[in-house]
Amino acid sequence: MALIELDHIVKTYDLGLSKVPALRDIHFRIERGEFVAIVGQSGSGKSTLMNIIGCLDVPTAGQYQLSGRDVSTLSDDELADVRNLEIGFVFQSFQLLPRASALENVELPLVYRGVSKKLVGLEDRMKHKPAELSGGQRQRVAIARALVTQPSLLLADEPTGNLDSRTGEEIVGLFVDLHGRGNTILLVTHEPKLAARCPRAVRLVDGLVIADGPGREVAMANAEALGAEALAQFHAAERAAQVGARP
Ligand code: ADP
Ligand code: MG
Repeated sequence: MALIELDHIVKTYDLGLSKVPALRDIHFRIERGEFVAIVGQSGSGKSTLMNIIGCLDVPTAGQYQLSGRDVSTLSDDELADVRNLEIGFVFQSFQLLPRASALENVELPLVYRGVSKKLVGLEDRMKHKPAELSGGQRQRVAIARALVTQPSLLLADEPTGNLDSRTGEEIVGLFVDLHGRGNTILLVTHEPKLAARCPRAVRLVDGLVIADGPGREVAMANAEALGAEALAQFHAAERAAQVGARP
């Protein structure tokens, strides 16, 4: 059974005088243990899709099954339960508690659950408050927090959007590592070079899936569509990765 099964999902925002067709006919599945990037330009429907998959919103039409359960028909309370039990969220803006010990709050359940702080590279930073951490470190805290409940699914919407390019690559490296440990991860990014590191990528254009395949291929097509500069950046990143990987 697939972890996620989207069956002709439609989402239309009703603004009274006008309707915005954010998702028009989304149809794909994700198996347990996959690491999938969702790519596409701003406004293509990536966040809308993540909100539906994360049970933060419901589709206008179509069926969504999570672990074989039809979540399209659940009440708000039932959706909240599914969110709490099944899904870990990571956002662009980290969304950590600024005061008190956000880190210690993460730490205790991590210890209970046997998740090592080492796993997210935070061994020596657990006593710091968010303001005392770099953006990359804050995002590591947010990822640790998302993993605390051992969710079936980790959802990350532009988690590298507020980070410099090198730190963004480190965070994607962390996701690669977490995927290697068996986590199912869905990552939204508009950066082709990051999507290229995912085994699979799905590309949205105007609320439709127009490509679904190996991350590198889908990311390269996306970079081509974005223009010569994006494609040049994509190839430069690949060359840099090759140089870095050389023994
Ligand atoms: P992306 O994350 O790819 O930038 P979104 O899913 O945020 O795309 O948006 C898809 C489309 O839906 C856009 O046209 C956007 O303006 C519209 N949209 C998103 N959220 C809302 C909302 N809450 N109300 C009305 N329109 C929305
Ligand atoms: Mg978005």
